[in-house]
Amino acid sequence: MSTLITNIGELVTNAPQHAADDSGRGGGRGSRGGRFGALHDAALVIEDRRVAWCGPAAKAPAADHVVNAEGRAALPGFVDSHAHLVFAGERSSEFAARMAGRPYQAGGISATVAATREASDARLRAGVRRLAAEMLRQGTTTFECKSGYGLTVADERRSARLAAEVTDEVTYLGAHVVPPEFAGDPDAYVDLVCGEMLAACAPYAKWVDVFCDRGAFGADQARLVLAAGRDAGLIPRVHACQLGPGPGVQVAVEAGAASADHCTFLSEQDVDALASSETVATLLPGVEFSTRQPYPDARRLLSAGVTVALATDCNPGSCFTSSMALCVALAVREMRMTTQEAVWAATAGGARALRRTDVGHLAEGARADLILLDAPSHTYLAYRPAVPQVAAVWRAGERVADLRSRAP
Ligand SMILES: [Zn+2]
Repeated sequence: MSTLITNIGELVTNAPQHAADDSGRGGGRGSRGGRFGALHDAALVIEDRRVAWCGPAAKAPAADHVVNAEGRAALPGFVDSHAHLVFAGERSSEFAARMAGRPYQAGGISATVAATREASDARLRAGVRRLAAEMLRQGTTTFECKSGYGLTVADERRSARLAAEVTDEVTYLGAHVVPPEFAGDPDAYVDLVCGEMLAACAPYAKWVDVFCDRGAFGADQARLVLAAGRDAGLIPRVHACQLGPGPGVQVAVEAGAASADHCTFLSEQDVDALASSETVATLLPGVEFSTRQPYPDARRLLSAGVTVALATDCNPGSCFTSSMALCVALAVREMRMTTQEAVWAATAGGARALRRTDVGHLAEGARADLILLDAPSHTYLAYRPAVPQVAAVWRAGERVADLRSRAP
């Protein structure tokens, strides 16, 4: 069974051969080694879960089934490389208090930990599935999901297991915060995270993560967690420099982490370290929106040649959005990324942060994950913020979400 989607006004492929030249526009740069690319008046053929062909609509081959996009834009499905979806409870009153002037502190996580420990498996599973479905409807076809609200061996294992039911990109985040029962002896908690808890979670996880920041874990503790995770076959990623300047980025680069996430407060050395490494800087502008912190300096990172990804950090405390489109709009409006850079970062950039080569682009052979926008170009994601514009979504070649009133 093959499907031809034709009359695509703008097909964002992120393929190097479709990259616009830099002359005059200054856009187009995604990041080191990758850039936004698009075709106009294009078509694409899906076969066996993959993109079998893409090119000018006038040259499209025949297929079993035809979808007329009627000039709409098509994009790779969003790749959300940072999300915390396994939790119970909610913290809207904390958000309201913050908007009334109280600063964000890492300690608020404990409220979610208490609610998560109390929740049944069924309740946690219903929550994570609801959020996963919400993401898919908004065009997110690949997402990462962390543990980190259990913080006991059994509760972390349960969180990782439930995350593994909805995604292959599971992250073990036992080192989210020190739970209250270890407040007097944080090093004993780090021992648990590196020992029994890791052994319980590693079978479900691909990644190991640590919140290396003030009020969470220090550099030496973070190094221990990442080294233990690596020994168990997991790949490091780090919550770095969200709450203030600190060692998080250096620790991430030194550990060969796939990504340093947040990057809100960076020194020159941090930017240099990222630029000369394979570590992606994952920016989470929904967090700055929801905490009223300053936004990270995306232009500084892009100018230095750092690979930049955008992700939601969907979680009940510091940012409860699952909308990658909102992140694109914030990146453009508040972080001075071009619309092309932001869309690249939300698709191909996220794929790099998850070390995936099959998603985030729409060249031949890529997994057929794509979004049809009810708009003529990718620019509309930032131009019409907060308007639902995803008309249809395909994941691995299957049409999984379709908002019928808008879909062709
Ligand atoms: Zn996070």
